Amino acid sequence: MRPIRLLTAALAAALLPAVPALAQEPVLNLYSARHYQTDEALYDNFTRATGIRINRIEAGDDQLLERLKSEGANSPADVLLIVDASRLYNAQQQGLFQPVRTVALEARIPASMRDPGGEWFGFSSRARVLVYNKARLKTADIPTYESLADPRLKGKVCVRSGSHPYNLSLTAAMIERQGEAKAEAWARGLVANLARAPKGGDSDQIKAVAAGECDVAVVNTYYYARILRSTKAEDRDIAAKTGVVWPDQGGAGTHVNISGAGVLRHAPHRDAAVRFLEYLASDDAQRYFADGNNEWPAVKSVVVKNPALEAMGGGDFKADPVAISALGRNTPAAQKLADRAGWR
Ligand code: FE
Repeated sequence: MRPIRLLTAALAAALLPAVPALAQEPVLNLYSARHYQTDEALYDNFTRATGIRINRIEAGDDQLLERLKSEGANSPADVLLIVDASRLYNAQQQGLFQPVRTVALEARIPASMRDPGGEWFGFSSRARVLVYNKARLKTADIPTYESLADPRLKGKVCVRSGSHPYNLSLTAAMIERQGEAKAEAWARGLVANLARAPKGGDSDQIKAVAAGECDVAVVNTYYYARILRSTKAEDRDIAAKTGVVWPDQGGAGTHVNISGAGVLRHAPHRDAAVRFLEYLASDDAQRYFADGNNEWPAVKSVVVKNPALEAMGGGDFKADPVAISALGRNTPAAQKLADRAGWR
């Protein structure tokens, strides 16, 4: 066997000058929980500008986190792109990220939308709003998240599980605003008002409101924007029957969350990963990134004209200025609180 092996090695060495371009082609391995049509252009533009090819693994947020945990130090992943403060916090707590400090990222991404230690950065934002049945409620009935716990709404509220990251982050925001005891009273009031046991995702809650199964639901803006932009007859019907309320405009502001990314601790291509994050913060990438899922760009100077978000009144709403990192910190308390309140 040995001579053959040597021969093979010699052959390979002889061939070497012909292959290095291929062998060392710069690549970036991206684990992404996002998959929207405009993301294709987003990634192609990066490759065109940098020569770095992107290998994408797309899966659900929780699947990606599981995968990274099991791959450990052998993971080929360079960048993790996921959704929601509570998930970013979890990933950070598990030690999945490494700190990144660059002038470009710190100048462009607002401090409230990134980890102070540079482990993750928000690249787009979404708000958690109320969608209501116009035949059953008026906007004045539901001006705040607090209204969801008002006994007058008994049997009228639909919301997905309290353990889902979107609701954990909302609960984390309520804890940040008013402390744990009041936030728990709120969650208990909300649970007492449920029209049905939590089931399905945000889109299912919107459908239930239109169908009259409940009068008001808590949903992320992009789900409702999708319905407003849809040409399907059933979605036109849902849009006609429902309206949107931006909660707490007279108070702390509407709760906002992010899509975000960080460079992974064992990233084999760290430089490419940092360049990719900087690229995501560029004007063009911000437009693609935000619009792909009817979100807002994180970079404030980048303006996106999204007709659905504007029709919803999302042009200049008051957002809760709380730091996303603070929501992450409150996530474990929010989970325990949701369990105590029976928000399953
Ligand atoms: Fe979602």
